[in-house]
Amino acid sequence: MFNPTEVEILKKCLSKLEKGFSLPGFENPADWAAVENILSQVAEKMHNNYPYFHPLYAGQMLKPPSPVARLAYALSLYINPNNHALDGSKASSPMEKEAVMQLAGMFGWKDQYLGHLTGGGTMANLEALWVAGKIHPGKKIIASELSHYTHQRISEVLGLPFGTVICDNSGRMEVTALEAELAKGDVGTVVVTLGTTGTGSVDPLAPILKLRNRYGFRVHVDAAYGGYFVLASNLSSEARSHFDVIDQADSIVIDPHKHGLQPYGCGCILFKDTRVGRFYKHDSPYTYFTEAELHLGEISLECSRAGAAAVALWATLKQFPVEKGGAMAEGMGRCHQASKNLYRHISQDDRFIPLFEPATDIVIWAPKAGSLSEVSERSQDIFRACAENDLHLALLNYPSRLLPAHWQHIEKDREYVTCLRSCLMKWEHIDWVDEIWTRLTAVL
Ligand SMILES: *Cc1c(COP(=O)(O)O)cnc(C)c1O
Repeated sequence: MFNPTEVEILKKCLSKLEKGFSLPGFENPADWAAVENILSQVAEKMHNNYPYFHPLYAGQMLKPPSPVARLAYALSLYINPNNHALDGSKASSPMEKEAVMQLAGMFGWKDQYLGHLTGGGTMANLEALWVAGKIHPGKKIIASELSHYTHQRISEVLGLPFGTVICDNSGRMEVTALEAELAKGDVGTVVVTLGTTGTGSVDPLAPILKLRNRYGFRVHVDAAYGGYFVLASNLSSEARSHFDVIDQADSIVIDPHKHGLQPYGCGCILFKDTRVGRFYKHDSPYTYFTEAELHLGEISLECSRAGAAAVALWATLKQFPVEKGGAMAEGMGRCHQASKNLYRHISQDDRFIPLFEPATDIVIWAPKAGSLSEVSERSQDIFRACAENDLHLALLNYPSRLLPAHWQHIEKDREYVTCLRSCLMKWEHIDWVDEIWTRLTAVL
């Protein structure tokens, strides 16, 4: 499962890296016996994890980095660049700019955009909403009731009013409810989630953009989780129609550490209008000395950022360019297909009831029972029994109010129902759906 070839490659490239610096040698005074002893303790500690790297881990939104990302990250740590200023990241800042250019290009932004990597999606959304607040000071930020929980908190941090819009029975923002909210005249920004974290639903971006013509708000697309699905060739025509107009957004967030095969610590914010750069203007007395070119720290809220994250992303994009028809596109298509295959098993089996057809690669379902209380209890039992059987699923508390019509015969005796949830984010998952199904049904 963990291939030692990786370490061999690292060894060779480490020696190549060293050769590039013709400096007098010096000994690293590490106590190697202590290092090995402690690392072996770490290996033992790490046993106390679910096997996130294995296809039988089909629970939360966790995906292992690709070998090339892991190795590029590790290799760059011998330099440990800081992508705040060019002085501290002469090689890795240009790599970040190249990588961000590819992500922007994936959304159809070729020449005009401003963007950079962040510590993650929350930081990236914070920047998007901070800029939104500068453009529409004091006006409301609104997002769907199933949007990521951090939007409300970010709005609080920024001192901006926040509101939610209800969802339809497929977990998507309800456009008529949105319009009623817009008619009140105090909305500055609408957060449109393309791939919600809970259910993978795709908000109806296309009609929301039409409303923008009429009401003049900013559109921020939170595609932290779902962004890479823009490449998939097998989405439903409904989901496709919204990904197809993503280039009309004012800002976009995507998390390479979700679907982009990166180690944690890699989000990305993109703005369509480069003039938002003016909001970032600040005078750092420490940093910007030697280079006239743009320092990424001049367009980022964070100061220090891991150059290693940029190096890893750059390397990954070399192996898996984000182009239609490429390996990354195919991988995203496999994820979606895997979720449809599992959904088919579930919807054809009388013991289960699905929530709705997956728009991306998250499947939600529950064991059939007379009431939502019973459904919830049995979901938790199955979740535990599967884990004992080395199949790792997740649980989701879903609002009963949003349950689709085919759930109507189940007594709604509580406000939330606990369902089973599976994120099939690994490219290999498609080959494991039958095994997942076998293990799932074995515990019934
Ligand atoms: C994961 C996620 C976030 C938060 O991103 P982090 O990288 O966890 O900080 C925001 N929005 C959506 C839709 C997400 O899936």
